[in-house]
Amino acid sequence: MELPFAESFKIKMVESIKRSTRQNRIKWIEEAKNNLFNLSSDKVFIDLLTDSGTGAMSDKQWSEMMLGDESYAGASSFFKLKNAIKDITGFDYYLPTHQGRAAENVLFSAKIKEGNLVPGNTHFDTTKGHIEFRKAYAIDCTIDEAFDTAIDHPFKGNLDLIKLENVLKSNPKENIPLIIVTITCNSSGGQPVSMENLKAVRQMSDKYGIQVFFDSARFAENAYFIKIREKGYAHKSIREIVKEMFSYADGMTMSAKKDAIVNMGGFIGFRNKDDYDDASVFNIMFEGYLSYGGMSGRDMNALAQGLYEGTEFDYLETRISQVAYLGQKLKDYGVPVQYPFGGHAIFVDAKKFLPNIPKEEYIAQTLAVELYIEGGVRGVEIGTLLADRDPETGINRYPELELMRLTIPRRVYTNNHIDYVAAALINVYDRRNGITKGFKITKEAPILRHFTVSLERV
Ligand SMILES: *Cc1c(COP(=O)(O)O)cnc(C)c1O
Repeated sequence: MELPFAESFKIKMVESIKRSTRQNRIKWIEEAKNNLFNLSSDKVFIDLLTDSGTGAMSDKQWSEMMLGDESYAGASSFFKLKNAIKDITGFDYYLPTHQGRAAENVLFSAKIKEGNLVPGNTHFDTTKGHIEFRKAYAIDCTIDEAFDTAIDHPFKGNLDLIKLENVLKSNPKENIPLIIVTITCNSSGGQPVSMENLKAVRQMSDKYGIQVFFDSARFAENAYFIKIREKGYAHKSIREIVKEMFSYADGMTMSAKKDAIVNMGGFIGFRNKDDYDDASVFNIMFEGYLSYGGMSGRDMNALAQGLYEGTEFDYLETRISQVAYLGQKLKDYGVPVQYPFGGHAIFVDAKKFLPNIPKEEYIAQTLAVELYIEGGVRGVEIGTLLADRDPETGINRYPELELMRLTIPRRVYTNNHIDYVAAALINVYDRRNGITKGFKITKEAPILRHFTVSLERV
């Protein structure tokens, strides 16, 4: 008998989770104004809202916490993290920040001015928020294949080089402070960018004299997909692939809450000292002194250890296989899901799932609420609510894809939990024709509205 796949870890500490009844959940979600962010976590049985900061740290990470150096300046923890970043990414300079969006805030304060253009593959919501907050524009140059959930393409995170070059050649260089490549591309479905594409973007940016920064939250998962799917990389280690990826960038922003498996933390990596110096001023102003920037010494230690664990092949195989396990169960039943499966989540195509709901009634949000009512599973909308209104016209932006994301936390749930999630969603699928009404907004914030929006049944 062929030996089956099994996780590359065993469990040393557990946390209880509670079941609830359908009646409970109908009441709770209404009290939460049909916004899943408003639910307290004890009302959720399986929480797939995000994989951000929700991972389980290892015994080695917890022991690193005890070794943290909390000196204000020059802490050994700062240097431990510096060495890990240099070792894994190759960047000589770095600034610690309290999380990924803080890294964006600091870097963009140094680089982006009003009216600038920032091309890239689909920008992450906080990235776009920080660009638009500065009255600059995020230009999406992702390949068209990314927007069709049924097309099988190994690197749906890739940039369309023609779209990118059109932006670069039709605008003055001074107006484009940087290109941002998001690896993996979260907003288009956790889809990877190929090494070939990263290299081509580098060559084009050199031709036009523009810098490239990677938004790197899931860089290790990107490297895993390159190893598995791209010709010439099967025999390279994840760390070799990661090194090559970053060799094509001038710097990186990092939300360490993802692939570095910590609950809080982030940083900016820089190739050259001038960029580091420019950003340092803002780091001191917004985050903290240069050698801690919003993080405790113990957290920098855990992050340094997490960078090594997150780039181990066995860990990545365990994680990405679990995501695919959920995807395959749903796909086999006929539930419309983004394919090939992404690294950190399964994306359900809500337009195909609920064809009776008009786009003005928040299709993916409707599906996420139904799944919660069905099984106490919390997913998240990646659709019209997330897309926000156009900052100039105030009109709702309707993205091509209405997705419900089921995000798998790292090293947290077993495959029994995954079976439960699949069963709950399949139950909703079986009764999909009876779901004919969505939601309307009763209250919203001017930017990043999805976090706090209030909704009412139509
Ligand atoms: C999570 C994430 C961010 C923002 O990081 P936070 O730590 O949540 O502030 C930015 N970009 C990408 C691609 C992310 O996944």
